[in-house]
Amino acid sequence: MKEETIVLHTGHRRDETTTSVAVPIYQTTSYQFDNTEHASKLFSLQELGNIYTRIMNPTCAVLEERMAKLEGGVAAMAVSSGQAASTFSIQNICHSGDNFISSTDLYGGTWNLFNNTMKEMGIECRFVDPKKPEQFENAIDEKTRCIYGETLPNPKLQVFPIEEIGKIGKKHHVPLILDNTAAPYICKPFNHGANIVVYSTTKYIGGHGLSIGGLLIDGGNFDWEKAGDRFKMLNTPDPSYHGAVWSEAAKPLGPIAYILRARVILLRDLGSSMSPFNAFTFIQGLETLPLRMQRHCENAKEIADYLSKHDKVDKVIYPKLMSGDHLERANKYMEKGHGALVGFELKDGVDAGKKFIDSLKLFYHVANIGDARSLAIHPSSTTHSQLSEDEKLSAGVTPGYIRLSIGLEHIDDLLEDLEQALNNS
Ligand code: PLP
Repeated sequence: MKEETIVLHTGHRRDETTTSVAVPIYQTTSYQFDNTEHASKLFSLQELGNIYTRIMNPTCAVLEERMAKLEGGVAAMAVSSGQAASTFSIQNICHSGDNFISSTDLYGGTWNLFNNTMKEMGIECRFVDPKKPEQFENAIDEKTRCIYGETLPNPKLQVFPIEEIGKIGKKHHVPLILDNTAAPYICKPFNHGANIVVYSTTKYIGGHGLSIGGLLIDGGNFDWEKAGDRFKMLNTPDPSYHGAVWSEAAKPLGPIAYILRARVILLRDLGSSMSPFNAFTFIQGLETLPLRMQRHCENAKEIADYLSKHDKVDKVIYPKLMSGDHLERANKYMEKGHGALVGFELKDGVDAGKKFIDSLKLFYHVANIGDARSLAIHPSSTTHSQLSEDEKLSAGVTPGYIRLSIGLEHIDDLLEDLEQALNNS
């Protein structure tokens, strides 16, 4: 099946009891066992089935199956937010005393998590500039458990060198985890060497700004056993689960050791599960994701072209308008469009940036991306205001930088709003 069909049909055709075509919201905490033997088989994982909604739920399961198939992975796990997805993606394979390597170009919340909270947990994050892919290799040692990056990080919008860094990871038996939040449908990280994909479903998957959620997807393409001691958490007996060895326990189920452990250990112990109602809203969004992404990308391309010719604009930051390695990677990895985030720098700096935002009539002024509606923000005075001037510049935030998340409105209306706001800035 092609993507447009997967998002409508995978994991659910009709409800077995009621024949409902729409995916029902299974708003329940628990599930009645057939008898004591059945219950005991479920708990010991001899048989798979519903036990308790903190760990699994049939509405969430449809979202998980559809997203795993769409991405070309083998299994997925829904969680309560994108932040929970990033946290779990690391915690599932990193103990205190371990380290992992991350690209410097990250969403601010992820940067804080890696630089501060993970450090407090005893997990060291080694940051490397993705402009220098070879330096990822220099940072790997015997305690390195994974490499983490974002496919299309904003504000720089320079596409991550997926294949180059995937190869380095493979050479050292270290998996590559990619946050694909800004590029669902248009980029398929597993095709280029990523092993785990994380999402904030809050953005394009939901697409309508309704719910907070996240997902982890297992590519099933990393040999945890071969990596041996590097992954003790998957390859040695787990005392919290009757000595189960996850890479062994997963064998009858497929190459899903990573997601199996995440579900039965992290969801069991730390919670952060997705509510069935939120899963339902994400399923509604997902059904139109391919169509929406096409329109998002078309509108963004026209807006980037328009801004690049405007005399109040110094520079436009958009993957298609880059050069050298950045353009090459954008064309190679963003197979179905260059995304819907557009950055630009106003010639007259901070004051012009603020005036521009205050003059917008159609674009919403919010700290979000990936909504059906168009959104704008001036990072220097908002999301990045706590950083020093040097830190802002290394994050790609100049004083007059504006970030646009282009929505699905008619292009003429969007251009008219930008024109009048630029005239007032
Ligand atoms: N990853 C990226 C790229 C994001 O932009 C965000 C939020 O803006 C997150 C993760 C965190 O997602 P959430 O807000 O769902 O926790």
